[in-house]
Amino acid sequence: MPQKKPRLRMRWILLLLVVLAVSWGAWGALLRGPSIQVKLTSDRPAIGPGTALSAHFIAGKRGLGLVRLEVVQGDCRTVLAEESFERPSTFEIMPDSQHREWELNAIVGRGSPECLKEGDVVLRASALRAAGPLRGEEWSVVETTLPAVFRPPSIQVTSTRHYLRQGGSGIVTFRVLGDAVRSGVRVGRLDLESYPLAGNPRERMVLFGIPWDLDRPSEIRLYAEDAAGNRAEAVFLDHFKAVPPRKDTIRLPDSFLERVVPAIASQTPGFDSSGSLIEQYVRINSDMRVANRAFIAELSKKSEPRVYWEGPFVQLKNSARRAGYGETRSYRYQGREVDTQTHLGLDLASVARAPIEAPNAGRVIFTGFLGIYGNAIIIDHGYGMLSICAHLSSIAVQEGQLVRRAETIGRTGATGLAGGDHLHLGIFLGGVAVDPMEWLDGNWINNRIRPYLPAKQAEDSRDLAP
Ligand SMILES: [Zn+2]
Repeated sequence: MPQKKPRLRMRWILLLLVVLAVSWGAWGALLRGPSIQVKLTSDRPAIGPGTALSAHFIAGKRGLGLVRLEVVQGDCRTVLAEESFERPSTFEIMPDSQHREWELNAIVGRGSPECLKEGDVVLRASALRAAGPLRGEEWSVVETTLPAVFRPPSIQVTSTRHYLRQGGSGIVTFRVLGDAVRSGVRVGRLDLESYPLAGNPRERMVLFGIPWDLDRPSEIRLYAEDAAGNRAEAVFLDHFKAVPPRKDTIRLPDSFLERVVPAIASQTPGFDSSGSLIEQYVRINSDMRVANRAFIAELSKKSEPRVYWEGPFVQLKNSARRAGYGETRSYRYQGREVDTQTHLGLDLASVARAPIEAPNAGRVIFTGFLGIYGNAIIIDHGYGMLSICAHLSSIAVQEGQLVRRAETIGRTGATGLAGGDHLHLGIFLGGVAVDPMEWLDGNWINNRIRPYLPAKQAEDSRDLAP
């Protein structure tokens, strides 16, 4: 059967082709294998006092041979971090290395390395793949170029008469020269961010508060920071008055705990209601107080860059001033001190369920139950300034609503941590609780704040409640 011969030959040729293809593929895989993946990131878009670099390496089965993170600027060439690994035996054709993923971290900045100058800097992350019997080592390299800038922006103060007191409020206007990405007033460890004035990003303004416990004027400074993290600070206070907190004692009878603790616990999702009433009370008075203030500080970031308000803030009609700002209270239960906290607002007492007027014009930014404050209304007055009316029995406004100065917004009550029916008025600047007394004083506002504050913007009538 001679006609079968060519078909057999064809089969042999086909088989040979298949074998060739398979071995070519296997040979290629052994020779090359996957390259090492290298990812290089920095925490800032430029190099200043200290930029954190991170290089992440992922290798195939053969693993990493060596990883390196270096900085190159002309003749300035420095290895910032390096790690080499024990390599798999050359005779292992399919090794499974322990070192398949690694991260190198380093800080690069002014003085590290010492040879670094202002200008472009190349950051390089490289990895060497471990060699095998059939293939050599292979480098994977990723580079990125960042500018190095070591001179901070500079600050020129344009306002005057910065007379501040502990727990008080102030305003400062200034000009920033250089490429600042953040600027404002630092009070202690807090940075209160400034706002641009009249659309010019270099002309800045910040309404700021001095925390009740900050008694060192050297801790109050203007700052300006660029993208590289270079930071300039400038003192600007003309006068500072320390106001030590007044002391008071609050006794906690069981009848009070029974009234306030379950009411707050039941209206606070996630509250840990384990332990005795006094243990729960202390958690509310301390942890929840901190959380409630942090919530208000977060809200103040949503404040609009505009002036809503005008004139002195309104005190509850026909009210007597009770506890003041900065009162530091020792809480006593069954004869022993169980907690210490500082009161950061003004307590005003009138008749029960007295109508409350909006302390000033603004937009309602929060209504509802807020821990120690009970039923509360928070109003945004613009440029980071918020006021809170707390312990209410009823709320007559809604979130988002614009309110006029002295418009009725609710009624006083005793919700939250309140011993009896009263209004707690709190004022926050950039999240810092300040003494409301200054804001009730029209002369103080006219002398200290008004000259540097942009004009009040006209209300948008569409936003006003009917
Ligand atoms: Zn109060």
